[in-house]
Amino acid sequence: MITRDDIVQAIRSLGVQPDDLLIVHSSYKSIGGVEGGPRTVAEAIVDAVSPGGSAFAPTFNYGNDPYDPATARSYDGVITEFFRKLPGAIRSLHPTHPIAGIGPAARDIVEGHDKAQPFGLGSPCWRLWERNAWVVLIGVSHEANSVAHVAEERLQMPYLDRRRTAQVVRPDGSVESVTLRRPGCSDAWAGVIEAPLRASNAIRDGSLGSAQVKAMRAKDVVAATEQLLRDDPTALLCRNAACDACSAARRMLEP
Ligand SMILES: [Zn+2]
Repeated sequence: MITRDDIVQAIRSLGVQPDDLLIVHSSYKSIGGVEGGPRTVAEAIVDAVSPGGSAFAPTFNYGNDPYDPATARSYDGVITEFFRKLPGAIRSLHPTHPIAGIGPAARDIVEGHDKAQPFGLGSPCWRLWERNAWVVLIGVSHEANSVAHVAEERLQMPYLDRRRTAQVVRPDGSVESVTLRRPGCSDAWAGVIEAPLRASNAIRDGSLGSAQVKAMRAKDVVAATEQLLRDDPTALLCRNAACDACSAARRMLEP
C-alpha cells in the first residue's frame, strides 16, 4: 500500500519543494492502493509544498450543477473532491471552472475568479503561470493540463468567444443564470503539448504506484503552447468530427 509519505516523496523527487506553488491534476484509479484512499493523496499534495507553499487543484463542475462553492461537486476526479473539502481549502467563485487552493498564497491566487474568464487575466491559472507554479500530472496527461488554456487567452484565440449559460447559487439560496465564455476542447492535447515540452527537456518523469507522474513549470507549458498556436492556430483542436467545440473553432478560424 502506498502511504502519505510515499506520495510526498514521489512529488518532491521531481524537484517540488516546501514554499513552492503547485497545481496537481490527477487520476486516483491510476495509482493503485493508497492507505487511507484519495483523501490521503489530497493531503499529501499539500504536504509536498508545506511549510510555506500552496497547493491547488481543479474542481471544475463544467456547468453540470448550479455552482455553490461549498457544495458543488468537482468533476475532475475523486482526489480533487477530497482536496476541496480539506481544512483551509478556498475555492474560487467561477461558475464552471473553479479552482481550489490551500496555503498562504491560496486567497491571492483564487480571489476574483468570478470577474475573470476561466483561464484569462486574473484567473487562478493565469496567476499560477505568472508565478511559474509547478504543474504535476498524476496518471493523466496534458488533456488535463489546464494552464495551457492560458496560452489561448494570451494569444486571444478567436475560438475562445463561444458562450454558454450556467447556474450560480447566490448566498441567499437563489439560483441565477449567467452567460459566460466556454473554454475550448482539450482532447487532443496529450501528444500535441507533450512533444515540444519533451524536446526542450521541460518534463521531469516519476511514478507513484502504477501511475506515471510528470512535473513541469507553468511557464514552460504556456510558452510551448503559445509556440504551437503561432505555428498553427488549429494546433490544439481535436480531429473528432463529432466534437462541436472543435468544429465551431475551426469555422471561427477561417478567414
Ligand atoms: Zn474537440
